[in-house]
Amino acid sequence: MTILIVTLVFAFILGACLGSFANVVAIRLHDMSSLMGRSRCPSCKKVLHPKHLVPIVSWLLLRGRCTDCRKPIHIQYPLVEGAMAILTTVTAFRHPPLEGGVGMFLFETLIALGLVVIVVMDLRWKELPLELMGVLGVLGLVVHLTFAFVSATIQPTLISIILAVAVPVAFFGIQWLVSRGRWIGSGDIWMGGMMGLVLGTWQMSVIAVYLAYVVGGVAVLSLLFTGVVKRGMRVPFGPALATGLLLTMWFGDRIEPYLSYAFSFAT
Ligand SMILES: [Zn+2]
Repeated sequence: MTILIVTLVFAFILGACLGSFANVVAIRLHDMSSLMGRSRCPSCKKVLHPKHLVPIVSWLLLRGRCTDCRKPIHIQYPLVEGAMAILTTVTAFRHPPLEGGVGMFLFETLIALGLVVIVVMDLRWKELPLELMGVLGVLGLVVHLTFAFVSATIQPTLISIILAVAVPVAFFGIQWLVSRGRWIGSGDIWMGGMMGLVLGTWQMSVIAVYLAYVVGGVAVLSLLFTGVVKRGMRVPFGPALATGLLLTMWFGDRIEPYLSYAFSFAT
């Protein structure tokens, strides 16, 4: 019990630091700058002091303003650090690293990290970073092919991985062709392929896409209702897809029996 609590506290701190890294990756992938080099204030370009780089805490102590130029520091920074801290804590709870879960903990944490970067870039700049999706897809493929035994529930074969990629790619690809890119962006097709590589079976891909539409639908309806978005505005789909993928990675094996049940009626 004590070990679990210590693990979760450590995971929260690790996650907050990873969130800080995710902010840097998102901004530097956006403006194509190098990942090396010191962090600077986005307004006055002053190099930040290490004590101003403590995740979440620094932003709160500075009340969201640069010490030098007093310009506001984007709320993205503490939000992403907090989100990543929570995601890493949940992952550590699912796969306690000290109790043999280290492989799955690292895998799911890295996927969550990549998804957070993707969500930030899609929300702020309507960009889906293809290079990062490639990295996540390769990571999924390598993990499924070499460590299939780590996961008790999913044991994908090469054919099932190909189907897992083909189903969402075809689903989004057809929509993209029919609507000539109006309903869905080409980045979403790539994202669908990446999801298949991470999840490893077509059943999981179907669940992830389904959950993405549920999450996206609820989000868009509540944003329309509260007037944050207006009818006809283009809402990025990446965050919904990322949420669908994450939920399926966590709970897909519990949802899958219901999918098989639905299919047994259909056939
Ligand atoms: Zn400044």
